[in-house]
Amino acid sequence: MTIFIERIIAVIILSHKVITKKYRYSVKSCCMDKSKPIFRITNLDFYYGSALALHKITMEIMPNLITALIGPSGCGKSTFLRCLNRMNDTISDTHVEGQILLNGEDIYSKDIDLANLRQRVGMVFQKPNPFPQSVFDNVAFGPRVVGLTRDKNELNMIVERSLRQSALWDEVKDHLDENALSFSLGEQQRLCIARLLAVQPEVILMDEPASALDPIATLRIEELMFELKKNYTIVIVTHNMQQAARVSDYTGLFWLGELVEFSPTEKMFTRPEKQLSEDYITGKLG
Ligand code: ADP
Repeated sequence: MTIFIERIIAVIILSHKVITKKYRYSVKSCCMDKSKPIFRITNLDFYYGSALALHKITMEIMPNLITALIGPSGCGKSTFLRCLNRMNDTISDTHVEGQILLNGEDIYSKDIDLANLRQRVGMVFQKPNPFPQSVFDNVAFGPRVVGLTRDKNELNMIVERSLRQSALWDEVKDHLDENALSFSLGEQQRLCIARLLAVQPEVILMDEPASALDPIATLRIEELMFELKKNYTIVIVTHNMQQAARVSDYTGLFWLGELVEFSPTEKMFTRPEKQLSEDYITGKLG
């Protein structure tokens, strides 16, 4: 059911006609000012109905780095992640207060083009959700729907580039016509990442991307994240603190809908500022 809903959302997002006209390659990381935050989040509150799920979140996310969000179950990590590309808009009776700027642009302003936002800020889910189609068609899906190219050779190049970027090319190059569902879960997750890269996002949101995978497949995703951050900004929700410590540059600890601490990862895990962070990280709490 979840996969079905995600697919519908993907189709709605990608089939939005405006994107065809407005499609443009994302700001290349080489041209970005890496000293400026890509996301500036200020006093963000989020409500499910009247229930406050996020309270006064203020945070800056730097480009070409990996930011990890940790905290116990139900503390608002995924809700926050979904605020960054307005995925929560698909849930009825929710609302947001505060501000999120993406490269200086208010993503909650009336003028924002949602399809374009979700192309710029793509998302990888906990469970790999490839379409039951060939490997090639999965990766070509986005470029086709947004009308990126009609040229077969160019489409081939985009598919190959995306599969190389997601470290999957060598494994699938002779199986591009095979059904994506016949591959391992780890390969399916990297395929989902390739599908996302094919429309050139600026930011990749990852919601527990390795929690359904075995340790070797998890390691490959983590290695891939290191490669991807050269060109993309990554925000990852993980319940696995070791993973946050291994992969991220910054870590935010959420607790009961609040951001308790946001620090460089090394600091968070060795000399956190808050007692609550220390208690959570050392396992005394949570
Ligand atoms: P986490 O990712 O840290 O596990 P969530 O963001 O999923 O936390 O949840 C934060 C709070 O919001 C929880 O109390 C959860 O029950 C609530 N919540 C999450 N999704 C919904 C929803 N679709 N409708 C109502 N409440 C929700």
